[in-house]
Amino acid sequence: MNVLVNNRFPAVDVGALALSGYVHRHQVAEGVIALYHPFGHEIAFIPEELAEPLDARRFEQLPPEILNDLIQRSFLVPEDFDRTALDQVSVPPIKGFFSLWLLMVQTCNMACRYCVVEADKQTRKVAQDPEKTQAGTRMTPETADRAIEVFRDNLERNRQPFAKTTIYGGEPLLNRLTVAHVVPRLRQMRWEGQTQPLEILCFTNGLIYDPKITDIFAENDVTVGLSLDGLKSHNDASRPLLNGGGSFDKIVASLKRYKEAGVRVGLSCTIGKHNKDDLAEIAAFFADELGVNAFQLQTPIDVPGNRNPLYVQMGEAAKPAWEAFKAMRARGGEEGLAMRRLVPFMTGRFHHRDCAAVGGELVVSPDGTLGPCHNATIGGEQYFNGNVTDPKCNPEVQSNFIEWHARMPVNMPGCHGCSFIGLCGGGCPYNALINKGSIWEKDPQQCYYMKNYVDLLLEDCWERYVESRHSAQAGGLGL
Ligand code: SF4
Ligand code: SF4
Repeated sequence: MNVLVNNRFPAVDVGALALSGYVHRHQVAEGVIALYHPFGHEIAFIPEELAEPLDARRFEQLPPEILNDLIQRSFLVPEDFDRTALDQVSVPPIKGFFSLWLLMVQTCNMACRYCVVEADKQTRKVAQDPEKTQAGTRMTPETADRAIEVFRDNLERNRQPFAKTTIYGGEPLLNRLTVAHVVPRLRQMRWEGQTQPLEILCFTNGLIYDPKITDIFAENDVTVGLSLDGLKSHNDASRPLLNGGGSFDKIVASLKRYKEAGVRVGLSCTIGKHNKDDLAEIAAFFADELGVNAFQLQTPIDVPGNRNPLYVQMGEAAKPAWEAFKAMRARGGEEGLAMRRLVPFMTGRFHHRDCAAVGGELVVSPDGTLGPCHNATIGGEQYFNGNVTDPKCNPEVQSNFIEWHARMPVNMPGCHGCSFIGLCGGGCPYNALINKGSIWEKDPQQCYYMKNYVDLLLEDCWERYVESRHSAQAGGLGL
């Protein structure tokens, strides 16, 4: 049977077509199936009774407009489509680095139960007396200056239009000397090709509040990221002080002081057993009670030795995380984890990389060595080498970065044929490394999460489609 698909396409031998193996299906309402194709993020809603003839290739039972639509949007494809589909996907090359992470210290004054730093015996020992952190685990101003030079040279060489820097640790404010030194220097940094001001962030746990540092942040337009795992009961179950007490009151007091001083604040909330069922309530609390309408849920990762006692399967947390996104959206705010994939989804873009560690992130540890991921200093030490203090330092040619930059689903045979390959980005290579021994393994959090995430997205699209049809009818369009 030949059908003319439309004026642009020649007649197609429909008998030679079949539903692409990449297509995912999900029931979004009674009698309605959503089909999702990862190339271009195409969605089609079809009546449930058409699913069986579609599978059995009895295309004559499909209404012609549905058949044509499924062919045009590559749900129905020729036999060799799936085999060659990935060859057509263009992978944007990495142009140097755009994100610098400066690890001020490798120690912390808190004892979060899921933290890689806390789980590490060496750093935990030092953490008992964090203010006396030894040289070598504390970045000096000279090392920070060299890191900035290496980064700036790279930005200029690649004519990067936009860049950001994250001041991080352990707890970075245990090294206020270098923080105070580095922030104005970052703000003064310029490079050829720059089109936007450098974004500067400092991630702190909020236990130390230093008014002098706050003034420096306010003067230099630094955004503070505070970690808070929810309401008091959630946060204090996961983020205890070194003496075992709760940290919630101190974090919230710091948040208020930063805001009063005119410093922009975002919140980061790590998902775990302690909060996974209450994420929508937590989003509402952040927006309504704390006045923060930008926050980021963090996917739980394991710590070396599988010793994260709060670890949960992200697939189980997908629905509450989606509800948190919706709660924030209803308040005009944003939740970063959901948005990370919504943007490529809405623009039809293939989402190759889920994390900047596989595409443009340059992490400098306190002693000046360089690596791709800020957590990998513990459990991924083999990926830290070179040193910013070496005058010949050029991270772009280092094998650690070259390997991580290639680590994405299109280069992972186990991911080929997956329905979510256009939206997944491969999750967290570090979680794959510590769970399965290699960054080239699948992140154990990812597949289950992606299935549930896409199902929720399809349900949301269906709800909006139905709403828009109702309002169009109410407006008299009769669509
Ligand atoms: S690899 Fe994992 S732990 Fe490292 S930066 Fe990326 S998401 Fe975070
Ligand atoms: S990690 Fe899992 S969900 Fe992601 S592309 Fe690979 S197989 Fe698909």
